[in-house]
Amino acid sequence: MHLDTPLVYVKGVGPFRAEMLEAKGLVTVNDLLHYPPFRYEDRSNLKSIYELAPGEMATVIAEVRSTRMPKMGRRNVGLFEARFGDGSHATLTGKWFHGAYLANVLTEGARVSLYGKVEFDSYSGDMLMMHPEFEMLSADDEDGDASLHTGRVVPIYEAAGKVSPKMMRALMRRVLDGIEPLEDFLPVHLRERLKLVDRWTAVRGIHFPGEDSDLRLLNAFRSPAHLRMILEEFFWLECGLELKRSKAKLEAGIAFQLNEQVREKVKAMLPFKPTGAQKRVLGEIAKDMAEPHPMSRLLQGDVGSGKTLVAAEAAIIAIENGYQVAVLAPTEILAMQHYASFQALFAKLGYLVVPLSGSLKAKEKEKIKRFVEQGAARVVVGTHALLEEGVQFHKLGLAIVDEQHRFGVMQRLKLMEKGEVKPDVLVMTATPIPRTLALTVYGDLDTSVIDEMPPGRKPIKTKHLPESRIEEVWSFVGREVAAGRQAYVVYPVIEESETAGMKAAEKSYLHLRDDVFPQLAVGLLHGKLGQADKETVMADFKAGRIQVLVATTVVEVGVDVPNATVMVIEHAERFGLAQLHQLRGRVGRGGEQSYCILVTERLGETARERVRTMTESNDGFYIAEMDLRLRGPGEFFGTKQSGMPSLRFANIIRDREMLETARGEAQAFIQHPPNEEVLRRAVHYIRDNWQRRYGLVQVG
Ligand code: ADP
Ligand code: MG
Repeated sequence: MHLDTPLVYVKGVGPFRAEMLEAKGLVTVNDLLHYPPFRYEDRSNLKSIYELAPGEMATVIAEVRSTRMPKMGRRNVGLFEARFGDGSHATLTGKWFHGAYLANVLTEGARVSLYGKVEFDSYSGDMLMMHPEFEMLSADDEDGDASLHTGRVVPIYEAAGKVSPKMMRALMRRVLDGIEPLEDFLPVHLRERLKLVDRWTAVRGIHFPGEDSDLRLLNAFRSPAHLRMILEEFFWLECGLELKRSKAKLEAGIAFQLNEQVREKVKAMLPFKPTGAQKRVLGEIAKDMAEPHPMSRLLQGDVGSGKTLVAAEAAIIAIENGYQVAVLAPTEILAMQHYASFQALFAKLGYLVVPLSGSLKAKEKEKIKRFVEQGAARVVVGTHALLEEGVQFHKLGLAIVDEQHRFGVMQRLKLMEKGEVKPDVLVMTATPIPRTLALTVYGDLDTSVIDEMPPGRKPIKTKHLPESRIEEVWSFVGREVAAGRQAYVVYPVIEESETAGMKAAEKSYLHLRDDVFPQLAVGLLHGKLGQADKETVMADFKAGRIQVLVATTVVEVGVDVPNATVMVIEHAERFGLAQLHQLRGRVGRGGEQSYCILVTERLGETARERVRTMTESNDGFYIAEMDLRLRGPGEFFGTKQSGMPSLRFANIIRDREMLETARGEAQAFIQHPPNEEVLRRAVHYIRDNWQRRYGLVQVG
């Protein structure tokens, strides 16, 4: 048996089980070794039933004495009950709802191990476990001898289809017994300095912890074996990202000139004095652009920090060097807003800015494509569909990609292949990215952060009110409008096509217009309005002809009306944190004190957390961290294409300190390897073992 032996050839697997293992990404022996248990159970220190105390989590080994399926009247409710005995004089009842299938499994006389929370059943006077986890135990078992499953700390694996946790354990044992001790590829200096156990010890210790191992550490994924595997995983991932970064720095790119002409144009464009942070960040970008290698830089900054201005300055550098700029957004609405911003900023400079959107008529689109191909269009703004539509650039020099957590690494690469020489790429995010993600998903990019707000901004005051107090909200809005300000009232629409949210917005619009604010100009904006209507409404709001704008989530990003000081968010419980923060960022853009009012109906636990986070903080980076913690990395990104590496041992939230350590070590290692041979081995090792798992594209 070798590490790359397909599992289908391992004794006891066969095609049927192999298929189910494959669905979990487990194809080879090596894959299996990287499938850690999610929990450990101490079956060495078992309890007798008579020792059980209500409230504790416990494991007992017992025999099924009797079973029944109690009925309610004549109705079968699917409840399955089994009574267990273990030779002590007490008995334990296990109950399973929807447990009919268990009648053929937990038959009288069967020996099982049960794990669950102990309760006291006041009806029967028995101890009770609801839905305990159980494992069948028998000596003549195809899944190996009982000593593997009892009398020790046992690993509990997630089942893979019909491959039960117990089969998984037996399979793991067989594989570990059948392979040669694993080689350790982690650089020795690192292992010694960080006091890491060697790989073979770690892998065995994760799957079958020794007698002296600490159950608490195991279950916290903090045993020496875990620490080693977590660090290793982060280290190779970060090495891969660092290799990618350093490789890009060797490729041929465009060396843009930063001359007087560029400076003049930038000066002519600037509508105000850039902040210190904007200047610093532009400096970083300009330096990259002047290098004869393609730039891959991430531009981060909170909502309203002025990223657009910086992006526009970068665009001028490209344009004045005779190149074109592509601006890509994840949605049509966002693209439209970028189009408007760039057009406004570049009006004075006489650059032709064109939109390339899916909603254009075929003829118009052809015309625009021709402008792009011939080079007349200096800036092309569109959604990422732009990459697929066979658009030919005359001379693409810079791509500005607005990611908003949706674009994947793959799309970015596709973009880079468009030009003959790789263009520079500036990735902007609409919401700040938590540091842990910046180190993983965006770890192959250099990072610039705008950490300063334009001058004169007052922190937005955020309040939370129940729907029952909506009248107070309206009188507050009335007072602000009387003082010359404007307000947004936003309703959630999850999908752009959804109609329920639209109806709510429409209804509220009529109510506000006719009943609450008959003397004010109330407007309505939602995704179903035609393009021209949308633009009219936005223009009216911008010009102050609309005082209260009722809207669905279309205002989430990009809208810029400094005189608006109130953001009322209805059904705030339905919005995610990032979205709430984005919405709030629509106000507080001028010198006046601004307010965000979160109105909620019933609040679940995480919704309450979200609302609390919002009222506590205005800091987008803090909010992004909380968002990540509340949702978990998978949800946070939402799609498979997110470029999120699939980590087996490590968890970027739980193990963030180790991630930081690994990042530093990996950078040092790649930039100053002890010698070429060690580096070469590492590159090969990453390519052979980690590339597929991490979705890393071409690291070496
Ligand atoms: P972001 O895209 O980072 O959310 P924007 O680029 O839309 O932020 O800028 C937010 C607001 O701040 C806009 O109204 C913009 O015109 C304004 N702004 C940007 N930079 C400055 C600055 N240096 N001084 C004053 N206002 C600025
Ligand atoms: Mg360059």
